Amino acid sequence: MNEAVRQPVLAANWKMFKGPETTRTFLDRFMELYPAHSDRSVVFFPAAISISAFLAARSGRDDLEVGIQDVHTEVEGAHTGAVSAAMAAEAKLGWGLAGHSERRQEFGDEDAGVGAKLGRLLEAGLRPILCVGETLEERRAGLLEEVLSRQVESVLDGLAASGSGPWSDKVLAYEPVWAIGTGETATPRDAAEAHGLIREILSRRAADEQAATILYGGSVKPDNIEALLAAEGVNGVLVGGASLDPDSFAQICLARSDR
Ligand code: PEP
Repeated sequence: MNEAVRQPVLAANWKMFKGPETTRTFLDRFMELYPAHSDRSVVFFPAAISISAFLAARSGRDDLEVGIQDVHTEVEGAHTGAVSAAMAAEAKLGWGLAGHSERRQEFGDEDAGVGAKLGRLLEAGLRPILCVGETLEERRAGLLEEVLSRQVESVLDGLAASGSGPWSDKVLAYEPVWAIGTGETATPRDAAEAHGLIREILSRRAADEQAATILYGGSVKPDNIEALLAAEGVNGVLVGGASLDPDSFAQICLARSDR
């Protein structure tokens, strides 16, 4: 396993928040609070319209990496409002999300389409983060493993067909839907259990699955970050609400990590 790739990833999903000006204001403050660290990766997913402002405002701080929140399943075409992975690569972005639960719930993204998006990100040379996770109803019905298997395996089918590269390049985010934006956080034990299940699912299909980086997402905050990073199998976090404030995201990025 490549240790440089497996170092903790602290990712900020800004969703539909922050235009170009508020992006600049955020970065001015964040860069004061968070100096570059070589032992972790910090990645931002700004709204597409604010990406060029982000790239300009981070001046000289290439350690603050940037990704695209969603891409189309096609490389290009007549798809008003959409962005492709190839366009994100042309804009020099390094990362892309696929399958965020808000895309699945609000925009009807289904497993096959999520797999296609992940394939496009890989083809374009971007590092993908595949988001998976169960709803509260599914958890209560004891369907955690079944849901994670379905979400991960449908993507593995597509990857096998395209002969995609090593697992050390790939990142998954376990994001229980009931913990996103609700203030409810999975306990470190819940996170460790789900991350273990995901590795088991990967191990059935992929030889080097232990190299995959698996993040936890769902109401991560400065006061729970260290316990979550200490949980077995948790290699970083994907943060929504608490990443919008420069002080709180800086505290998250500065958290001690023994993994
Ligand atoms: C997310 O949307 O990926 C997320 C984890 O959001 P929050 O931190 O607000 O729960």
